[in-house]
Amino acid sequence: MSLLAVSSVVPLTPRMVRMTFTGDGLADVGTWPDQQLKLLFPKPGGSALVSSSADVSVWYQAYLAIPESERPWMRSFTVRSLVDGVLTVDFVLHGTDGPASAWAASARVGDVIGRFGPSPDYARPLGTADLLVLAGDETALPAIASLLELLPASQRRLAFVEVADPLEEQAIPGVRWVHRSAGEDLVSVVTSAEVAGSVWVWLGGEASAVRALRRHFVSLGVSKKDIEFAGYWRRSLTQDDAPTADDLAEAQERIAALSE
Ligand SMILES: Cc1cc2nc3c(=O)[nH]c(=O)nc-3n(C[C@H](O)[C@H](O)[C@H](O)COP(=O)(O)OP(=O)(O)OC[C@H]3O[C@@H](n4cnc5c(N)ncnc54)[C@H](O)[C@@H]3O)c2cc1C
Repeated sequence: MSLLAVSSVVPLTPRMVRMTFTGDGLADVGTWPDQQLKLLFPKPGGSALVSSSADVSVWYQAYLAIPESERPWMRSFTVRSLVDGVLTVDFVLHGTDGPASAWAASARVGDVIGRFGPSPDYARPLGTADLLVLAGDETALPAIASLLELLPASQRRLAFVEVADPLEEQAIPGVRWVHRSAGEDLVSVVTSAEVAGSVWVWLGGEASAVRALRRHFVSLGVSKKDIEFAGYWRRSLTQDDAPTADDLAEAQERIAALSE
């Protein structure tokens, strides 16, 4: 793991802020679709630094060995871009006192956090099918936007992103925006969409919505191995809270789908 220093802070929308970071080792990270990383946010009086090991189990043991009062908060994020050693991450300001969102709301150039990843060990190829369906909420927008940028122009795709209201839209061609302010929700809009031919699906966002959408595509006959899915956050639970029975079932499903 290594440290990241904020090099710019740009509000994208009222609830999304884009930050760039510099830091050791960034120039050596390769590129692959949907790069995910852990960011570590220091507690008051604590540090963001854990251990320099790149071995995930060694690193995680070192993380757990830090007394809880000093252990940095660890949260998952997506590489929006990584160019010439400059990392860009888009943070949703979701308005709770969650440490990542609270940090992002007041971050300044020069602030330092930690990072673990992204690691090519977790790289998954983009699917191939007649139609690619990408759906998620604003936390998945960085991933969906970066995936759309990778697709050849000839690839048929449907992209759905649920956001609070029209002010949260970004200039990303081809996205069907779903506005909570208009009473819309991702699950209703996506399950009403017509899909035909072979389909590959990518889902990310609030966990129960992701689960409902996965069930929908399975019921349409899409093979489980052709559905990438991840609950990005859980209503009323932090990323430190223990997994629920649904989370454990989801983890089992992901493992089972990998071996299909
Ligand atoms: C693989 C992966 C990639 C991700 N990529 C990104 C990304 O690029 N950008 C990004 O902003 N997020 C991303 N997320 C989601 C992010 O990790 C979560 O939203 C995380 O909970 C934020 O941490 P926090 O400390 O702010 O809140 P937590 O301490 O985890 O939670 C505090 C409270 O906030 C609520 N909460 C958390 N997220 C939201 C939300 N989006 N809307 C409403 N309430 C919420 C929780 O239910 C809880 O009640 C990603 C998650 C995963 C798993």
